[in-house]
Amino acid sequence: MLVVMKAHATAEEVGAVCDKIEALGYRAHSIPGAERTAIGITGNQGEVQAGTLEEMSGVQEVIQVTKPYKLVSRDMKPENTVVSFPGTDATFGGPGLAIVSGPCAIESREQAFAVADRVHRAGAQFFRGGAYKPRTSPYSFQGLGEEGLRIMSEIRDQFGMKIVTEAIDHESLELVEEYADVIQIGARNMQNFSLLKRAGRSRKPVLLKRGMSATLEEFLMAAEYVMSEGNYRVILCERGVRTFADHTRNTLDLSLIPAVQRLSHLPILVDPSHGTGKRNKVTPLSRASVVVGADGLLIEVHCNPDKALSDGPQSLLPDQFDELMAQVRQIAAVVGRTVPGIGEHVGVAVKGAASGRISAAQ
Ligand code: PEP
Ligand code: MN
Repeated sequence: MLVVMKAHATAEEVGAVCDKIEALGYRAHSIPGAERTAIGITGNQGEVQAGTLEEMSGVQEVIQVTKPYKLVSRDMKPENTVVSFPGTDATFGGPGLAIVSGPCAIESREQAFAVADRVHRAGAQFFRGGAYKPRTSPYSFQGLGEEGLRIMSEIRDQFGMKIVTEAIDHESLELVEEYADVIQIGARNMQNFSLLKRAGRSRKPVLLKRGMSATLEEFLMAAEYVMSEGNYRVILCERGVRTFADHTRNTLDLSLIPAVQRLSHLPILVDPSHGTGKRNKVTPLSRASVVVGADGLLIEVHCNPDKALSDGPQSLLPDQFDELMAQVRQIAAVVGRTVPGIGEHVGVAVKGAASGRISAAQ
C-alpha cells in the first residue's frame, strides 16, 4: 500500500499520516519526490484498510501496490533516485556517469596507491578495492581486512575519491561502514537476508550486486530488503549471470538495464569486469553499457595484472583504462550523459577516432 500525498501537502500532514500508519502497527516510509511525497507502508501481512488514511488531510490517494516489491518500485517514486555525496559532483543516477574503479583486492599500500593515482588521473570519482574478498577457494587471498580499509581511507584523503568496498558478513560490515562511503554487497550475498537487513540499518549507501542466478524480481526484492529497513540509498549493479556460455566468465545481461529502469527508480551500474572475466571484452561492453542506459561502470584495474592476487585476467592496465574513459566520454555525450571528474586525461582523444573507427576488441 502506498499513500500519495497532494503536491502541496505540508510536513505536518505527512507526519500525521506516518503517525497513523505506525499507530496501526505498520512501518511508514516517507519518500519525497519532485512532484509529491509518497508514503510506503510495509510490515502488513494482508491488505491495509485504506479508509482511515484516505480521509486524512493532505492525502491525494491510496494505492494498492500489487508487485511484491514496493519501496523500490516506480509506483512509489516516479522519478529517478539520485544518490549524491555532499561537497562533490559525484552521483549515482544523475546525468553524470559514476565511474567506480580500482583493483579487485587491496594487496598492499604501494599497489593500491599506484592504481588510485592512475584511475584518479583518468577521471574516476569512486575508488573501489576489496579488503574482504569472498573467494571460491579458502586457500585464495582473502583480503587485508581492516588494514585494507585503512589504506583506502588514506586514498580518499589524498585523492578525494569516494571509497566503495565490500562487506561479506555482519562483522566486516561494522568496519566497512566506518571507513567507506559506499557499502558493496556482492553477488554471493545478494540473498543473505540478514546481511541485507543490517545494511538497511546503515546510514551509508549500498551498492548491491546481482546474484549470479538471480531473476529480476529476486534482485529487486533484495533491494527491497535494504530499503525496508529505512536505507533508501541503494545502487544496483549488473555483473553477469551464469549460463552455458564458456567464452566468458559470466554472461553480461545488458537487457536487465532497461528492464530495471522500467520498474524501479533506483540507479543501476554495469560491471563488465566480472561480467566478462576477460580483459579484452571490458572496454567493448563498457561502451555498450553506456549506450543501453547504465548509470555508471564498475571497472577493475591493476598495474601488474599478471601478479594480481585476485581477478588479474579481467583487470585492465592503467593505459587501457585511460582509453576506456576516452571512449566512454564520447559515447556518453551521444546519449546525453556526462562523465564528471578532473583527471589529466579528460579530453584526450580516442585512439582510432581520427579514422572514424573504434576497434571491436578494445
Ligand atoms: C567483486 O566485486 O570483486 C566481486 C567479488 O564481485 P561479485 O560479487 O560480482 O562476484
Ligand atoms: Mn573482482
